Amino acid sequence: MREASRSSYASRPRFWRSVRQEEWSSWIWQQQNRVRDVETLCQIIPLSSDEIETINWSADRFRMAITPHYLTLIDGSSLECPIRLQAIPQRGEQVRFPYELDDPLAEEKHMPVPGLTHRYPDRVLVYMTHNCPVYCRHCTRKRKVSDPQSAPRAQELTAAIAYIAGHPEVRDVLLSGGDPLSLSTRRLAGALAAIRRIDHVDVIRVGTRNPVTLPQRIDAELCEVLASVAPVYVNTQFNHLDEATSESEQALKMLREAGCILSNQMVLLAGINDTPHKVETLNRWLLRNGVRPYYIFQADMAAGITHYRTPLATGLEIMRHLRGRLSGLGVPQFVIDLPDGGGKIPISPDYLEPGTGKEQPLLFRNWQGELFEFWDVDGTPTGQSFMSSAESENRSLPSRRNPKDR
Ligand code: SF4
Repeated sequence: MREASRSSYASRPRFWRSVRQEEWSSWIWQQQNRVRDVETLCQIIPLSSDEIETINWSADRFRMAITPHYLTLIDGSSLECPIRLQAIPQRGEQVRFPYELDDPLAEEKHMPVPGLTHRYPDRVLVYMTHNCPVYCRHCTRKRKVSDPQSAPRAQELTAAIAYIAGHPEVRDVLLSGGDPLSLSTRRLAGALAAIRRIDHVDVIRVGTRNPVTLPQRIDAELCEVLASVAPVYVNTQFNHLDEATSESEQALKMLREAGCILSNQMVLLAGINDTPHKVETLNRWLLRNGVRPYYIFQADMAAGITHYRTPLATGLEIMRHLRGRLSGLGVPQFVIDLPDGGGKIPISPDYLEPGTGKEQPLLFRNWQGELFEFWDVDGTPTGQSFMSSAESENRSLPSRRNPKDR
């Protein structure tokens, strides 16, 4: 029988034993009790000397913050725990490689107004806030996320919405950040309603890790707002099955009931989710919860995250494994977001045997490694007609009709 997902409240560490369920279930309580310093973290789980040193090092660079919910998911006895590696600063952050970039996707370069990136003709990305419940150590926007000085101001958001209204080519608006759900529900409601009123906007997307790191944020009030501007495409980022909790399942259910369309953008991370089995089990759980695995991202060339990057071959092996074992619904696209604003390109295993198809059938290798022939239309041998000349004549009748008959 399938195991039920654990509840973070039921498995909370001794440090939070006296916390009542109502407090734990409140996103405000979770936000206010985020762990942000070594002294508190040490009381909850044992830390290595490298971690202690890197947490202090990162305090004025890309700070640490972990919600009690997410911290509860860490296996304190393992330095390889996939949640630990995403949430607690690791020594690799201090290493800088020559090819790493502060702004790997050149988002600042394509910013016609502050707080809005317009790179593809039909869509824009709006930075709603630079706060997140948990600062993921692999974040591609660590140049500004977690820095309160650089947070977008209210008038910038107004200007960004005015820009969208003034550009009829913009059909798709992605609210991102930071995490847009870190805004108050009231501010979020105002922005969503203003965007929905713009006639040429077809698609509203929200990129958020709250279902993973702070599922308590998905409450009735927020869902009412989302339902009022439905449909909203919610892209989240589950990276490992250890992030599956009953609290997350409840949050996803509420989002679905509010009319949201859910998908997942996993980041491929070395030592965390870089095996076919881990991705398969995660994707099965996502599908069960109405979330479509949408992308697997090759980690960007962002500063201080090379220790998370995997060879391209790892992603290709995962894709090859998924195909055939899961329906197409569970097979996401494996993509690289190219540096300097080059955009996303899909990377796919090659199923076509090289050199085949020249006046011969194409040869394809399927997910089980077996070869199959397939004739392409422009490589087929000369066809033989089975039609009589009379049939052939009838087939061509429509083109002989008098145009007035139509
Ligand atoms: S939630 Fe997103 S923006 Fe925030 S730290 Fe994580 S990856 Fe970065």
